[in-house]
Amino acid sequence: MRIEIQNLSKRYPNGNKALDSVNLTIDSGMFGLLGPNGAGKSTLMRILVTLLEPSEGMVLVDGLDASKHRQEIRKMLGYLPQDFRFFSNLTTFEFLDYGARLSGMKDSKTRKNAVGKMLETVGLYEARDRKANKLSGGMKRRLGIAQALINDPKIIIVDEPTTGLDPEERIRFRNLLSTISANDVIIILSTHIVADISSTCRNMALLSNGKVAFNGSPEDLVSSSNGKIWKMTVNNDEMDRISALFPITTTIPVDEGWEIEVVADDPSPFKGLPVEPNLEHAYVYFMDKYAQKNIEVIIDQED
Ligand code: ADP
Repeated sequence: MRIEIQNLSKRYPNGNKALDSVNLTIDSGMFGLLGPNGAGKSTLMRILVTLLEPSEGMVLVDGLDASKHRQEIRKMLGYLPQDFRFFSNLTTFEFLDYGARLSGMKDSKTRKNAVGKMLETVGLYEARDRKANKLSGGMKRRLGIAQALINDPKIIIVDEPTTGLDPEERIRFRNLLSTISANDVIIILSTHIVADISSTCRNMALLSNGKVAFNGSPEDLVSSSNGKIWKMTVNNDEMDRISALFPITTTIPVDEGWEIEVVADDPSPFKGLPVEPNLEHAYVYFMDKYAQKNIEVIIDQED
């Protein structure tokens, strides 16, 4: 399974450029798409699931041009949108049964088996007779992923899956995605939460202002910020000055003022001890660098 995104751009009718010449290749396994709100993630997801047409460029799914083979591609897809809604009166079982029927599972016995099995996979079998819209946030998300998985898709697209979930539900949901990705499928996970990406994704892209700022493994992203993260203790006055110069990822109040972690190629005139970077540090480092690079490009163009 392979998705090739070639030179993809999207301009909305009001002139907003949401995607700008995006190139990505996504192979089987879990792929993380990380970026702040407004970066263009949902736009990209909606193009991938053929709900939206790009302005330029194309998407190839196993070699098929998505704009010309919508029906075939939709059959391969499971999609959990950000604003997934439930019909009010259905139980958990009925809801998934309805989804299975929509996806073409006609025989009721086969469907009943498949729905029961899927509810077990996502840990909702015990809740099968509860009204779907009365489930907790995490359970609703798991029912959402169950509906996306019921037709055995080859590509699963999940948009901001852990927003609004408590930490325990978040971990459970991530683990569920991880289990699913052991099969030969592509899971694309779009998120603005760095922790959603870390251990679960083999590959990832950072999206910033509609452009790919980074594409590679989370480990590559982390190593790109080696030697760029500094720990130091500063007083209030120094804190004001340093926060105007560099991004700060951690702030802990201490007796002398603040213990902070600073993201900088060189934090001079301040002095700090280098800290081993994690994905969160790397994300901040990269976005800061990329934003500066963009500003330089804009200034160059204006000259
Ligand atoms: P993300 O999912 O990363 O938050 P989006 O794809 O939702 O990003 O948005 C990218 C950009 O496109 C933003 O500037 C947003 O305001 C704009 N945008 C999104 N949807 C529309 C739309 N329907 N019409 C006009 N602009 C839009």
